[in-house]
Amino acid sequence: MDGLLAAKENGKRQWMYPLVRKGRFYKWRSWLSYFYLIFFFAGPFLRINGQPLLLLNVIDRQFVLLGQVFWPQDIFLFVLASLVFLVCVVIFTIAFGRIFCGWICPQTIFMEMVFRKIEIWIEGDANKRKKLDAGAWTREKIIKKTAKHALFVLISFLIANTFLAYIIGSESLVKIIVEPVTAHWVGFISIWVFTIVFYLIYSQVRELVCTLICPYGRLQSVLIDEHTLVVAYDDVRGEPRGKLSRYADPFNLKGDCVDCSLCVAVCPTGIDIRKGTQIECINCTACIDACDQVMDKIGKPRSLIGYFSENMIRLKEKPSFTGRMMGYTAVITVLIAVLGYFIFSRSDMDITVMRSAGMLYQQQPGGYVSNIYNAEIINKTNQDKVIRIGADDPAVKISYIQAPGPVAKGGSAKTVFFVMLPASKVHAAKTTIKLNLLLGGKVVQSVKTNFIAPTND
Ligand code: SF4
Ligand code: SF4
Repeated sequence: MDGLLAAKENGKRQWMYPLVRKGRFYKWRSWLSYFYLIFFFAGPFLRINGQPLLLLNVIDRQFVLLGQVFWPQDIFLFVLASLVFLVCVVIFTIAFGRIFCGWICPQTIFMEMVFRKIEIWIEGDANKRKKLDAGAWTREKIIKKTAKHALFVLISFLIANTFLAYIIGSESLVKIIVEPVTAHWVGFISIWVFTIVFYLIYSQVRELVCTLICPYGRLQSVLIDEHTLVVAYDDVRGEPRGKLSRYADPFNLKGDCVDCSLCVAVCPTGIDIRKGTQIECINCTACIDACDQVMDKIGKPRSLIGYFSENMIRLKEKPSFTGRMMGYTAVITVLIAVLGYFIFSRSDMDITVMRSAGMLYQQQPGGYVSNIYNAEIINKTNQDKVIRIGADDPAVKISYIQAPGPVAKGGSAKTVFFVMLPASKVHAAKTTIKLNLLLGGKVVQSVKTNFIAPTND
């Protein structure tokens, strides 16, 4: 690593002017980013069963994932999901390095596939941008810079609105937009704070987010090993590097690298991948595309830079989906399946029933024996619900001391009630009975409890 790449020797920021070379990886990443961007901007407005795809409402402590509503009562699912996420990140990084950064991370996608493209469209490729920045403030420079930054602010504003919609929901966002500002001061200020943050990230901070701020790059350096697939330079094939000579190399002493430095010129973080894997590498694949183009020109095989593990380069291991990767992928799949099972098998309503302490049972008129129960009912849906408690056995009667009333969305309600059994039906001191939580006559949750009574037998 060459010290702090972001700084010049005089301590000033080393501004990056990466060239763009459109190769096969750039095309695949572009297609993926189109899909990603459509999904990102449409996400808050897409609905499953009337619920958004994703909502992270930390203010009201309400979360929605793929139409499933989660409340603070589902904290164990969040802990489980966080654990699964952490394990997946570790396993994925051990197997595939920093592939997430180059292909999926919103920072890279917005920076390279949106803001960088706008910059190139207005100011031109690397050399033109460098010249423009170094030059005097001419009319042309003022127009170009104003146009670029105006578009940057506009895109940042759109991102900020969408980002906020993931937090407060699209309906609340629409209200902030259409209703008077005075009615939504906090929302209005939030939008502009987010806009300024995103604008500064994509216009100023840029690659420093990946190289200095994001902890994932540092985590990567302790997780990868000689089996990990990363963007790497095949130095066995490339070295000793040397400029192309018009004279033939009779002893074939030179490696395939012609030392053109194009791989460095295209790198958005400014590193030379030929010096080995570095924490600044975000696996963006730009150097693969650039080098492939050079190899095509000089008639050598592609992939002097490519997705390699250390062992693929040194031991000539075949690029394959190794047993180790299969193992890791299997673990990730199982973890996600377990989490999915817990998420999709959880009920919208929950009930906890406990027999009241004190009197074991009561004799009731009409030949009934009763027990008193306390119950807590949790409503995990996004609507208030009116529920009832019933029993499986039609001979069992429920009589409320404290009715549950409507249970607010994401809230809970307490209820106290008698369960009454005809004395003639009691054959043991302790009988197991099944109580049902009924919503519109439909059983949404069942629970078993003990009924204590004097025996007739
Ligand atoms: S682009 Fe390829 S050939 Fe050119 S310097 Fe980089 S590794 Fe060598
Ligand atoms: S070294 Fe290559 S893959 Fe890594 S950040 Fe630079 S251009 Fe992207």
